[in-house]
Amino acid sequence: MSFLSRSLDRVAPSPTVAVTQLARELALAGRDIIGLGAGEPDFDTPENIKAAAIAAIHAGKTKYTAPDGIPELKAAICEKFLRENGLSYAPSQVSVSTGGKQVLFNAALATLNPGDEVVIPAPYWVSYPDIVKLAGAEPVIVPAGSETGFKITPEALEAAITPGTKWFIFNSPSNPTGAGYSRTELQALTDVLMRHPHVWVMSDDMYEHLAYDGFEFCTPAEVEPGLMDRTLTVNGVSKAYAMTGWRIGYAAGPEELITAMRKVQSQSTTNPCSISQWAAVEALTGPQDFLAERNAAFARRRDLVVSALNEAPHLSCEVPQGAFYVYPSCGAAIGKTSAGGTLIADDETFARALLEEEGVAVVFGAAFGLSPHFRISYATSEDDLQEACRRIHRFCDGLR
Ligand code: PLP
Repeated sequence: MSFLSRSLDRVAPSPTVAVTQLARELALAGRDIIGLGAGEPDFDTPENIKAAAIAAIHAGKTKYTAPDGIPELKAAICEKFLRENGLSYAPSQVSVSTGGKQVLFNAALATLNPGDEVVIPAPYWVSYPDIVKLAGAEPVIVPAGSETGFKITPEALEAAITPGTKWFIFNSPSNPTGAGYSRTELQALTDVLMRHPHVWVMSDDMYEHLAYDGFEFCTPAEVEPGLMDRTLTVNGVSKAYAMTGWRIGYAAGPEELITAMRKVQSQSTTNPCSISQWAAVEALTGPQDFLAERNAAFARRRDLVVSALNEAPHLSCEVPQGAFYVYPSCGAAIGKTSAGGTLIADDETFARALLEEEGVAVVFGAAFGLSPHFRISYATSEDDLQEACRRIHRFCDGLR
């Protein structure tokens, strides 16, 4: 009998780690590698946020805190939800955790039983299915391809719901596609959910602030107040405030759920880092104007990458509404052979050959549950993006 747990057998090792590891090894061997794999902003954490953390250290705010967040941060989060989303939550309905990822983990562990189903549109953020599986439940993957702008349709959602469905995981703007749902599109989904009162919604709003061309962000509990008592609205400071390493995510929802999540957290990490919590208070209550400046830079980079990819043979790329990813199709390259002699059998071999032959690291679409695509993160300098696009073009030109 294996010493390792059976739940671990249900989880695949991260395919993104394999690509990242190969990129690292090639760079160590002296190759010139451009990494477009990382899901984090290249910008630094703003100075006022760093200063708040340093002040917290000097003030001795370096001890255990309440398991799911200091009152000051919970107040800042309530204020944020009201100001930006028109959602009114009490502090007792708020949970702060070690990144958005642990928020999702806590919610899954607090609610899922063996056999429960969780509806996840694909392509999805790599961790959703594995978090569900680790909690002992079953991910129900619903393809949402480019023909619907990488968005799940109301019909597909309706068809995926069974009496065993516990959650629907919603993510807009999305990782890995950058697709954002308009208010009308989201309303069509919430209408379906209103007909199925046993289904709860986990709305992952991590990329709320990364939206372009006037895209109006909206979230399920705001679009359909009737869902308020079965929606967990998840957000965090990692992406918008360039604070991935600080590990602060948060959520708001019905008090019974939040209390259950607190129980999970109190027996795992005890509380999120005290210093990071004070930094997050400053992030949410301090100046917000840098967001628009950074978004203008992201939008420029998105346009650069999308137009360069659409000029390359065998690729096609949609213009996404937000996040800092694009998700081009490499379907027309499948079956061809690269200049270096690799048969492009699928998006994984495409990404591997691109890395080995041209030194550009991207993540293949199978990792996100929808092929044949690959994900590019454009959270890197315009110079690197231009050079990466030149190399991708050359690689595609060489396909025979
Ligand atoms: N949700 C999505 C869609 C993400 O892309 C990520 C990070 O990549 C997270 C949640 C987790 O964010 P955090 O770094 O706060 O754990």
